[in-house]
Amino acid sequence: RNYWCFEESKRHIKFSALLLLHTAGIILGFALRPYNMSYREIKFFSFPGELLMRMLQMLVLPLLVSSLITGIAALDSRASGKMGIRAVVYYTTTTIIAVFIGIVMVLIIHPGKGSKDEFSKQQQIEQVSAADAFLDLIRNMFPPNLVEACTKQFKTQYAKRVVHVTMTINDTLVAPNSSQQIEEMIPVPGSVNGINALGLVVFSICFGLIIGNMREQGQPLRDFFDCLNEAIMRLVAIIMWYAPIGILFLIAGKIVEMDDISAMGGQLGMYTVTVICGLLIHAIFVLPTLYFVITRKNPFVFISGLLQALITALGTSSSSATLPITFKCLEENNKVDKRVTRFVLPVGATINMDGTALYEALAAIFIAQVNDYQLNFGQILTISITATAASIGAAGIPQAGLVTMVIVLTSVGLPTDDITLIIAVDWFLDRLRTTTNVLGDSIGAGIVEHLSRHELQNTDPEVGNSVVEE
Ligand code: ASP
Repeated sequence: RNYWCFEESKRHIKFSALLLLHTAGIILGFALRPYNMSYREIKFFSFPGELLMRMLQMLVLPLLVSSLITGIAALDSRASGKMGIRAVVYYTTTTIIAVFIGIVMVLIIHPGKGSKDEFSKQQQIEQVSAADAFLDLIRNMFPPNLVEACTKQFKTQYAKRVVHVTMTINDTLVAPNSSQQIEEMIPVPGSVNGINALGLVVFSICFGLIIGNMREQGQPLRDFFDCLNEAIMRLVAIIMWYAPIGILFLIAGKIVEMDDISAMGGQLGMYTVTVICGLLIHAIFVLPTLYFVITRKNPFVFISGLLQALITALGTSSSSATLPITFKCLEENNKVDKRVTRFVLPVGATINMDGTALYEALAAIFIAQVNDYQLNFGQILTISITATAASIGAAGIPQAGLVTMVIVLTSVGLPTDDITLIIAVDWFLDRLRTTTNVLGDSIGAGIVEHLSRHELQNTDPEVGNSVVEE
């Protein structure tokens, strides 16, 4: 009992320290805004945050591959098959619910009423075909060269057509950096920081299944990936100490840098509020309820264990960069079985994006409303299906959802260049949807663990946890 109390108070202290540090980041950011720092000064100031981002990104590739391979190899093929099906059912259900919430919110609040004259664009994004985007997604799953998949971004057909944009609202230039952001996003559907994540996930799943079935012959490889995974997790543990400081500077730097949003009243303001409400409903009501109904455990205790991962998602806008921290939070704070996290989390971080799906459907209907375009039921259904597909294709990197939205808009004949209407607020909404994405993946791991408890009992835990147990 004493040990339990000690653990509880340790958790509370950690929780409060984290909240305090990040509030300090916000305050610091707003305090420095009046000084109109130059671009270079902002870069110097946010350097500790940039370092954190680089450290986390550095770990994504070895973590993704080693955890998936060990996670799957540690289970027998029946257990991993069942677990995989449960995870996919969870991903699909929650994504569909998220899309539904997005659609209902945008139809009820109707943020797009008014006139499109409020917006004006200087350059536009070219029309692309949805088929191109879908084919690129499938191509990405099968990289022709594995080494290249680990080092090189996959150039897509449609991304090459995206051009620079700048945007004004009521004649005020907003998001002057948006052209830069769009360029960074260009070659990335299904890929992360130069890694073809989707391709590597597909490969690692198959590879893990095969070496899991190879009995003694596969043992050296299983040991190798087990050991690699453990070494990476130890690196993550070190980075976790630095993470709160990095996040503080990431948040403060972004607040200093952000464009003046006072010009954004009207439609864009309403749109922002609508997205926030939708994400909040999904994150605070739907996901916790689902967790409670299935596991009968308190979802908010589970969520409090994820605090550091959620704040990292908010600070980095990248569910892939957050992945190492999500692992640590789930395994150490929430004691989720490592055989589940290793298998379910990397897949979730790559394909399960509730926040992105909600946002894509909502934004597409908002663009239709701004254009005074009446959508019929069939078109709304098409939007829901393509928003789900687009969220699967979106990489876990900042603002990837904005690029895959092309698929959604094209599917119902909406002008893809109107993506520029929402760029000004996307950096902010992106942080919120990334946090929702990370929450969705984590709750998914908790639910899959609960549902798979019988298979986990029957599988030798030594195989999965032999190296990692301290
Ligand atoms: N930034 C999001 C993520 O990393 C993806 C998106 O743009 O919606 O999860």
